[in-house]
Amino acid sequence: MANKKLERKNLLCTDALHEYILETTVYPREHEFLKALREATQNHPMSLMGTPPEEGQLLMILLKIMNAKKTIEIGVFTGYSFLCTALALPNDGKIIAIDPDTENYEIGLPYIQKAGVENKINFIQSEALPVLDRILQEGKEEGSFDFAFVDADKTNYGEYHERLLKLVKVGGIIGYDNTLWFGLVAALEDPDHHEILREIRNFFVKFNKFLASDSRIEVSQICIGDGLTLCRRLF
Ligand code: SAH
Ligand code: CA
Repeated sequence: MANKKLERKNLLCTDALHEYILETTVYPREHEFLKALREATQNHPMSLMGTPPEEGQLLMILLKIMNAKKTIEIGVFTGYSFLCTALALPNDGKIIAIDPDTENYEIGLPYIQKAGVENKINFIQSEALPVLDRILQEGKEEGSFDFAFVDADKTNYGEYHERLLKLVKVGGIIGYDNTLWFGLVAALEDPDHHEILREIRNFFVKFNKFLASDSRIEVSQICIGDGLTLCRRLF
């Protein structure tokens, strides 16, 4: 009997394993308009920014487990994670999505419309911070959101965190995307990398440590896509 020792327990050491997951579990179950939106984004010069479908699948199942009804999305691009969320929420669900850019959103919008989820979505063209501050100032929606997905300007994640901890309910979840940043958080800073890449790598090194030490939340670093950190508000 083969008794080769299994020495590592960490995930996705090969592209083949990633491909396996996509082909076996993700693509066969991907909603037709999510697939269409993903394909419409495929040749975009920034297509790398779109949420990978295996992560979208995780977000959808998470939202359903939570019975989420009301969410915030920061950073929409062409709308893959936005449409995942819209499809996962019940008919009376509501999503506020914020992005200063509409050009990319318009690429995905036809598929969002065809998916019949428009009654759940409220797209606000703006930088996210002033919108979060306005909602907080109005004072009616504190602690009313079940879930927030943060996938925008990375170095502002700390600012979003303080506001979202007031906006999500106790027991609610905030998901921060790209927290493993191409794996660079575990590598030494590389002077050959572009300055922005390095700046965001250094930011995430600090931010991940900060989240791990933040007693207001429970936290889990998930190795999916470019790294997703889930935070659950404790009080
Ligand atoms: N979640 C998206 C990917 C988002 S990419 C998907 O699944 O496809 C990052 C997005 O953040 C871009 O569309 C960019 O316009 C947006 N962004 C950048 N700065 C922002 C800010 N200050 N507030 C809100 N969105 C911002
Ligand atoms: Ca992302």
